[in-house]
Amino acid sequence: MKWTEFAGWGRRVADWAQEYHLTVGDRPVRAQTRPGEVLDALPATPPETAEDMEQVFRDFEEIVMPGITHWQHPRFFAYFASNAAAPSVLAEFLVAAIAPQCMLWQTSPSATEMETRMMDWLRQAIGLPDGFAGVIQDSASTATLAAVLTMRERALDWRGNQQGLPGQTPLRIYSSAEVHTSIDRAIWISGIGQQNLIRIPTTGDWRGMDPVALEAAIEADLAAGLTPAGLILCVGATGTGATDPVADCLAVARKYGLYTHVDAAWAGSAMICPEFRPYWQGIEGADSVVFNPHKWLGAQFDCSAHFLKNPDDLVKTLAISPEYLKTHGAEGIINYSEWSVPLGRRFRALKLWFLIRAYGLEGLRERLRNHVTWSVQLHDRLAATPEFEIVTPPMWSLFTFRYVPEGAADRAEDLDDLNLRLVNAINDDGRIYLTQTRVDGRIAIRFQAGQFETTEEDVMMAYDVITEIAGTLG
Ligand SMILES: *Cc1c(COP(=O)(O)O)cnc(C)c1O
Repeated sequence: MKWTEFAGWGRRVADWAQEYHLTVGDRPVRAQTRPGEVLDALPATPPETAEDMEQVFRDFEEIVMPGITHWQHPRFFAYFASNAAAPSVLAEFLVAAIAPQCMLWQTSPSATEMETRMMDWLRQAIGLPDGFAGVIQDSASTATLAAVLTMRERALDWRGNQQGLPGQTPLRIYSSAEVHTSIDRAIWISGIGQQNLIRIPTTGDWRGMDPVALEAAIEADLAAGLTPAGLILCVGATGTGATDPVADCLAVARKYGLYTHVDAAWAGSAMICPEFRPYWQGIEGADSVVFNPHKWLGAQFDCSAHFLKNPDDLVKTLAISPEYLKTHGAEGIINYSEWSVPLGRRFRALKLWFLIRAYGLEGLRERLRNHVTWSVQLHDRLAATPEFEIVTPPMWSLFTFRYVPEGAADRAEDLDDLNLRLVNAINDDGRIYLTQTRVDGRIAIRFQAGQFETTEEDVMMAYDVITEIAGTLG
């Protein structure tokens, strides 16, 4: 393909994308594909000669699109939303065309300085105090890994990278059992080891960490000659929105000098609304906080906002500066690749700039507030329906429920099975998309609203679909 043909194709793609977004609500939300179907439709060997772009595009529509689950569908209520708001898609199109590498200031000063400014806009938007510095990571998993590596190096007095872990006293990291699997992975990759990730019991409606139990665990580890290194809290965990009491847990961590990281990957976006901030009261005491604008806030994937009270700790952990990466003759610059695990970096700040300017913070807040209001309404209707029980209450726009028809078997396995059948039947139907989780070992059905084009009608349709399909299960 020649660049002289690009504009024509670009217009075709733009038309296609607009039409897709306007009509995506007519498609089944979850792909109705059988395993292997797409693989079988793709030739086993690559073409030796150039193919016609028309044919490639036709195949994209005929082979690829039927196997897509529509995350931009207004009735996508599964997992968490992954919004690609129109202005952020435009920015990504521009970035794809320019394709800059943004590892160093000099490899694209605009990208670095835009990132500094956008992260400070986000810091203000979510109400973090002045003094936190931000960096855009590719994912919350990477931000958490960077934080855990910092915990490790800080606890080992910066010797870990050089000496490795053999011969060191085991490091201990504390979290609840509600945290995301990215925390386990960070513990594995950092070499700290799963057995040194200590799960602190949770209490209450928010399923948050018990700070008294946290302190007891730290004391026990100290008495055993182990080295407490870090605390990882969650605000809005994936399963049920579990949220640790941030202020109380950070106070314990401070007492023992632990490095602290807060995973608010999903719920952090909600903090642009001041009324939701009491959930993370005390957040200003954390060393590291991550949230994903690529979930609820509308920035095209990927875009993870990582805030640090003292970026020097992170840079001391991750920076390597061989001669070929040095920038001579420029003072006071930031090389963001020293703040993250990968060297190569995409220009992710541009989509934040487009997004925040195109909606304004008020426009973004309005969307999030609606999602929460409508979810609570749906929750209220299900709570008032005798065959359903609420398992966990609304945390922002997420709650879990269970189908418990009268006379249903009392045996837990049978009820689990019935609810799994209900989720599958709903997703085969295609009008809405839901996923399940386990709460205290038992299956519960998750509902969250967060897609930008979702309307109140869409959320209420979920009630009709859930009750209608439950009624057909027998
Ligand atoms: C989505 C999510 C993650 C993982 O985010 P990635 O950006 O995909 O790594 C981690 N923690 C929580 C609470 C999440 O909701």
